Amino acid sequence: MSRRAEILAEMGLAPVWVLRDKKKPPLEKTWIELKQAVPACTACGLHKSRTQTVFGVGDEQADWMLIGEAPGAEEDRVGEPFVGQAGRLLDNMLAAIGLGRSENVYIANVLKCRPPGNRNPEPGEVEKCSPHLRAQIGLIAPKLIVAMGRFAAQTLLDTDASIASLRGRVHACAGVPLIVTYHPAYLLRNLPDKAKAWEDLVFARKTMAGL
Ligand code: SF4
Repeated sequence: MSRRAEILAEMGLAPVWVLRDKKKPPLEKTWIELKQAVPACTACGLHKSRTQTVFGVGDEQADWMLIGEAPGAEEDRVGEPFVGQAGRLLDNMLAAIGLGRSENVYIANVLKCRPPGNRNPEPGEVEKCSPHLRAQIGLIAPKLIVAMGRFAAQTLLDTDASIASLRGRVHACAGVPLIVTYHPAYLLRNLPDKAKAWEDLVFARKTMAGL
């Protein structure tokens, strides 16, 4: 069984292509289905106020998967996660450890639609949207997930623990090692914590080197 099939199985997602076609898993078809399903999704109330869904961006075979909270106003307008000032900071942080957003990195959010007024996502919205993210994780099968911000970390790890208590350790989400750091938008408001985010990225890079 391939690594992707193992991860899908661990996540409880039926790896139907493993059963159906032993020669070649039609991952492209599955991506196409997911890319059609998300923009058409009306599973929670956020579809009413979105400009568009924000699916995710990057290398679909990436070793690194970065997951944030939900689209903000700019992401909702552009249709891409982590744009604007926070996106530029993220790009700089990635460049500092030798990565780029489309080179061996995939970026997505827990929610695919913007909560109005940038309010926190509600539990029901997360529950409805999580199959989309779970499918993305299963298809990408990253070696390492970096959860950016309190909301993503708490959602992916199913915990109420603070970022401070979750940083600096390797956790696991759906069988994939996961490291926690701050959200770039938070760092823009709390510049002293940039040093901590840098520590997290160095830790992530070291962890990746050992995987
Ligand atoms: Fe569907 Fe997720 Fe958008 Fe809700 S947030 S409508 S579950 S894509």
